[in-house]
Amino acid sequence: MAPSKTVLITGASRGIGRGIAIELARAGCRVALNYAGNVEAAAEALALVKAAGGDGFTVQGDVAVAADRQRLVSETIAKFGRIDVLVNNAGVAPKVRADLLDSSEESFDRLYGINLKGPFFLSQLVAKQMLKQERDAEGFRGRIVNITSISAYAASINRGDYCMVKAGLSMMTKLLADRLANDSINVYEIRPGVIATDMTGGVKEKYDKLIIHDERGITPQRRWGQPEDVGRAVRAIAEDRFPFSTGAVFDVDGGFHLHRL
Ligand code: NAP
Repeated sequence: MAPSKTVLITGASRGIGRGIAIELARAGCRVALNYAGNVEAAAEALALVKAAGGDGFTVQGDVAVAADRQRLVSETIAKFGRIDVLVNNAGVAPKVRADLLDSSEESFDRLYGINLKGPFFLSQLVAKQMLKQERDAEGFRGRIVNITSISAYAASINRGDYCMVKAGLSMMTKLLADRLANDSINVYEIRPGVIATDMTGGVKEKYDKLIIHDERGITPQRRWGQPEDVGRAVRAIAEDRFPFSTGAVFDVDGGFHLHRL
């Protein structure tokens, strides 16, 4: 039997990252669960990973901080010996939804650091690590998955900073996919729609109305997405179901991206 895949997931203590970790555990993966500060949530996520048949450990680190990114990689290598899959999931929304003309530089810098700069420089470190790793019998050497958002292309003028950095993360996927294509490292973008997590907890009523109660919902599938929906897409990538695809975008959004008349 092939050895289990080793995966580093940023922001795995809660929400989508936790959902990804549990789904990968169901596939028998070993998972490094990164978190920013919520120790209890991280420990709970690890317990769920173990209950689902996987194994792993938690590792604190702010993806916006260079020394922390370095530590995420070195601790994962110390525990697992290699990184088969990196999932750039950690991300934050603006603290206040401000009109585009009033949004602050401080908010822009925060989102840029966590949602774009962090994933880019972490990917750089991990890609260099993957390049040192042997290809397996099927030619697999590593995979990078970036969790962007429908906000990479849908304009929301009350959180323009979030949209801009997610669009940047989308371009990062293309760039890394091109650079690493001949190195047996495929890079993918997953674009979640509206997913039920802490991030969307504060706007639940608004989205309940838009998705479920309005006569014609904003999503053809009239339900909220769940972290597990995104987890299943990442699992398919970790199981290497798309070896001849790189730079591909997976819409996990209930059909939000469809243009409808
Ligand atoms: P969430 O429930 O707020 O969870 C955020 C996770 O990221 C937590 O594990 C948190 O750790 C971690 N985190 C926050 N800042 C970090 C940092 N600086 N360094 C490392 N980890 C950090 O968010 P979510 O809804 O699951 O979102 C996950 C990703 O999906 C984000 O990139 C988000 O933009 C994207 N997304 C979400 C939705 C949605 O509808 N929810 C839709 C599209 C895309 P702690 O627990 O320690 O705070």
